[in-house]
Amino acid sequence: MSRQPTIDAVVLDIEGTTSSLRHLRDRHFPYSRARIAEFTRRGTPEIRSLLDETARMAGQPGATDAELAATLQRWVDEDAKTPPLKALQGMIWAEAYAAGELMAHVYTDVPVALRMWRDEGVRVHTFSSGSVQAQRDWFRHTDHGDLLPLLARCFDTRNAGPKADPDSYSAIGRAIEVPPSRILFASDRPAELDAARRAGMRTVGLQRPENPPTDFGEHPWGRDLADAWAAAGCRSSDSLFCKRSDVVAEATRRLSSLNAKEL
Ligand SMILES: [Mg+2]
Repeated sequence: MSRQPTIDAVVLDIEGTTSSLRHLRDRHFPYSRARIAEFTRRGTPEIRSLLDETARMAGQPGATDAELAATLQRWVDEDAKTPPLKALQGMIWAEAYAAGELMAHVYTDVPVALRMWRDEGVRVHTFSSGSVQAQRDWFRHTDHGDLLPLLARCFDTRNAGPKADPDSYSAIGRAIEVPPSRILFASDRPAELDAARRAGMRTVGLQRPENPPTDFGEHPWGRDLADAWAAAGCRSSDSLFCKRSDVVAEATRRLSSLNAKEL
């Protein structure tokens, strides 16, 4: 019996893990910043609700919509992970994808790893400060095609919680109905890995070449997802071995029955 940990689910950070931080900062953030003012003038109930939330979070009761748009733009400049900004950016980027003006980035190893996990029966989820809708749109419009069918669930700061809070990872475990010890969380941020580990998850760091050199402490780490999967010691989980055995047994049984008919 393998001593390697049994992993039933992988949870992936996006920015700096599956995807280039530079791409996001050079393309997506400026694109959203340039369109915030126009979006906030649309006056739809959804936009109104996001502006009200912005006013509450920024401590700007009675601010005009133009003032709130300026606050949202400042949050873009600060890379603030505030939910109303993330929701608004998701809406802006959705229109950009539809118009063919933006494309999401994933590293070349990502589609390969997602297909490997699918074939091995490991469910893959994402956890990002980007809104759930933005995450879904991101994977639907990558430079490697539509990868959304390879993902199970997306989690953000609304449906899970802050990324450096262990409770967020416990919430994800409950939501996907997998014990934390059978979940591998991958991220480029040690603080997120620490939080996931405190919730009982297995962890692995991603040192992407363009990211600053990072001290992952006691967390194993890799340079791409395959490397990280191996570094975490999860290359062949017990569950995978069992599933493969089941497949082989089923194929053998079918072959036997076919041969019996032919005879
Ligand atoms: Mg990250």
